[in-house]
Amino acid sequence: MRIGGAWLNYPGTQALCAVLGLAGHRVLFVGGCVRNTLMLMPVTDIDLATDAVPEVVAEVAKAAGFKVIPTGIDHGTVTVIAGGIHHEITTFRSDVETDGRRAVVSFSRNLAEDAARRDFTMNALYAEPSGEIVDPLGGLPDLLAHRVRFVGEPEQRIREDYLRILRFFRFHAVYGDPAQGIDAEGLAACAALADGVDGLSRERIGAEMRKLLAARNPAPALASMAASGVLQHVLPGADPRAIAPLCHLEADSPPRWQRRLAVLGGEDPGPHLRLSRQEQAEIGKIAEAIGSPFTPAALAWKLGETPGADVVLARAALLETPVPPGWRSDLGRGAGSKFPISAADLMPSLQGEALGTKLKELEGRWLSSDLKLTRAALLA
Ligand code: ATP
Ligand code: MG
Repeated sequence: MRIGGAWLNYPGTQALCAVLGLAGHRVLFVGGCVRNTLMLMPVTDIDLATDAVPEVVAEVAKAAGFKVIPTGIDHGTVTVIAGGIHHEITTFRSDVETDGRRAVVSFSRNLAEDAARRDFTMNALYAEPSGEIVDPLGGLPDLLAHRVRFVGEPEQRIREDYLRILRFFRFHAVYGDPAQGIDAEGLAACAALADGVDGLSRERIGAEMRKLLAARNPAPALASMAASGVLQHVLPGADPRAIAPLCHLEADSPPRWQRRLAVLGGEDPGPHLRLSRQEQAEIGKIAEAIGSPFTPAALAWKLGETPGADVVLARAALLETPVPPGWRSDLGRGAGSKFPISAADLMPSLQGEALGTKLKELEGRWLSSDLKLTRAALLA
């Protein structure tokens, strides 16, 4: 069986495969590009696997005029820019020694060995430069059945790298089948080894959680994370129960991880997920406004249209209420509104602190009126 995808036929990509092939090396696409093409999902990066050692990949690619970056040469990865596209080329390898985070690797000539060190069967799917699929571990039937399954024995694979706990839930969120449920053996292993999450860097946890929360429907994965005790290690106090109603209410609104995170609640996610200041401020504002009395128009005026929508949806999910009728057009109305009073309207009779207090009071009245009180009514 062959896959097709525009990325497969990029001239630079095909040229790179051709020069490695002509030099006598095996080279195959692997991971996300193969998996996502089969799932009709966008391909964001191109990963390749080869039997050539990294120094040789670099030499051959340079000789062909491509730019080479030694991204992670000790782990076998070089980045080759061909036709303006980045290709991560990793030498077939097996992980000989692991400490739960980093691996000592040994390069291999053998594709089966390379497949065995990968995390899930759906991530051990390869394709020849022609698009012909190579599936050493039965990843294709698993992918088509939306089954996220560890390669090998789950507990052993998690002990090698505890990030795989979070990757298991992330891949289930994105590719899993909610009706079929999560792989029981994988889930049991995650539950038994949940403590291992504490040893991971908070950047890596945050990166996984952003991707998980941005899935179309992360509710089943989050429920399993909570049931297995993993979620408490990621974000203490988080409660995923409102996520399913949230996803239902979102309907065709684009998923936003910030909104889902605000609904999870729990401790301040800033340090736990190593959020940027800007992300922290945005999520803080959404979370704070959920309990406020502001209407959709008032929310959009105060926070902007997108965070305003986040609050309306989050509030409805958490309070188990329907979204207010006409909320979308109200958000637009609020975002386009201008507070009708300026300082000049109140001067010179009010000055300094008194002026500031009056302006705040009028703004509060205007917001409570759903932005409907006119300038005249406010000044009367
Ligand atoms: P995406 O790029 O969409 O997140 P991907 O599958 O391409 O998905 P990468 O992080 O680019 O993910 O990794 C490429 C491949 O490397 C994966 O498909 C998998 O085979 C392997 N891999 C990545 N991280 C791990 C890990 N922690 N343990 C084992 N294999 C891994
Ligand atoms: Mg990738």
